[in-house]
Amino acid sequence: MPEIDIARYLEIVKKEVSNRRVPVVDLIAVQTKEPFKVLVATILSARTRDEVTASASAKLFAKAATPDDLAGLSEEQIEKLIFPVGFYKNKAKHLAKLPEALAQFGGVVPQTMKELLTLPGVGRKTANLVQSVAFQLPAICVDTHVHRIMNIWGYVDTDTPQKTEMALRKKLPEEFWIPVNSLLVSFGQSICRPIGPHCDECPLSSDCAKIGVTPRKTRTAKTPKGAIKCISWNVNGIRAVEKKGFVDTLLAFDADIIGLQETKAQPDQLSDDLKDIPGYTSVWHSAERKGYSGVALYTRLKPLAVHYGIGEEEFDCEGRVIGLEFENFHLLNIYFPNAGAGLKRLDYKLAFDAALQRYCQKLEEKKDVILCGDFNVAHKEIDLKNPKTNVKNAGFTPEERCWMDGFIDDAGYIDTFRMFNQQPEQYSWWSYRFNARAKNIGWRIDYFCVNAGAKEKVIDAGIMQEINGSDHCPVQLLYQL
Ligand code: SF4
Repeated sequence: MPEIDIARYLEIVKKEVSNRRVPVVDLIAVQTKEPFKVLVATILSARTRDEVTASASAKLFAKAATPDDLAGLSEEQIEKLIFPVGFYKNKAKHLAKLPEALAQFGGVVPQTMKELLTLPGVGRKTANLVQSVAFQLPAICVDTHVHRIMNIWGYVDTDTPQKTEMALRKKLPEEFWIPVNSLLVSFGQSICRPIGPHCDECPLSSDCAKIGVTPRKTRTAKTPKGAIKCISWNVNGIRAVEKKGFVDTLLAFDADIIGLQETKAQPDQLSDDLKDIPGYTSVWHSAERKGYSGVALYTRLKPLAVHYGIGEEEFDCEGRVIGLEFENFHLLNIYFPNAGAGLKRLDYKLAFDAALQRYCQKLEEKKDVILCGDFNVAHKEIDLKNPKTNVKNAGFTPEERCWMDGFIDDAGYIDTFRMFNQQPEQYSWWSYRFNARAKNIGWRIDYFCVNAGAKEKVIDAGIMQEINGSDHCPVQLLYQL
């Protein structure tokens, strides 16, 4: 393979990322010029999104701007300040020991690789970053992006970041040692992403060897310009579905907003892989009770605000609603309560239905509202396989259906699926028992609804019965902005 002109590649990357976000550690270096803060931010940044690192660093530095201040904090206090960075418990342990370790260097951050490697929580990558960013010394910090992209380009052929560092030390001109990390982190976060790199919009696309790369799929023909694709899915346990390839499934949706219900996880039970899906920001609203209920949203559109709950404690403590507010609309992702065995929670559910409707109608006074989620009710007989035998069962009681009648007929909300499809046997949930899914003995209880005024913006709606992984399948909406 011909040798690539690395100076030209990096110049193109530099232009490409000039208007993109600066990696958080570089930002902190520029803003503070303090090696101690650069070191701490670098430790916090491992396996953590930049926004989370930035906010955790700000909280920690407000209490501990120097090693002496940090020595005054207990490990538990540090844990609380840096939560939810990845591996926050381990990082808090390391940070609690840092002041004592720095004492042997007169209480300041040392500059040599050998000395830096004696500090708790500091490996080669961190040490290189501190050397280059904090002290402007010739060091090459090879993180996952540098390692990955240099191999994609065919500039090196290595299987570990450490080998990449050694290979780059031999062949990368020294003038690029310091900037290469910042450039490729920024490029790797925006264009050359770890999963589904954006080759279609990359200025290097015609030159790049694309070794080992599967470029992202571009928008499908079904998502017209100016429209968004939204998906709603009751995953019945995010940690369970993660083991069945959830991240790849989500990326394959190529959707702009994805709402999940019944996540059944607290924030500290989520893996970084789930929280940091490339190209998406995720927001989570968990129930106070562990392993119960919970909703989440992934979005690649930047919202004006995120709203947790509907402002009524008896419902919000169950993690049932999370909303994104955009310029012209709200999107609410909802997990409606189940009326329960023996209809023990029917009153609670009806109270929730009424409260949710009040909330929507208030929002609707200012902006359009899209609601998605598991409504836990089949509206009409056509929406379940066995209506006659289920009239007294949760999800098909006259009371629950009566609320849905009012929501649609009186309040004017649109069940978008029925705008396009009047067929029977269109279900989104099947019991795990009796081989119900294979026999299509199911219920349609997952919906996308919009307020009456937004009806003309609905382009398409459907059910994705081919997607497995939960007892529900996803439903989707194409919506003109
Ligand atoms: S063409 Fe694709 S693989 Fe190559 S650098 Fe650009 S985004 Fe990465």
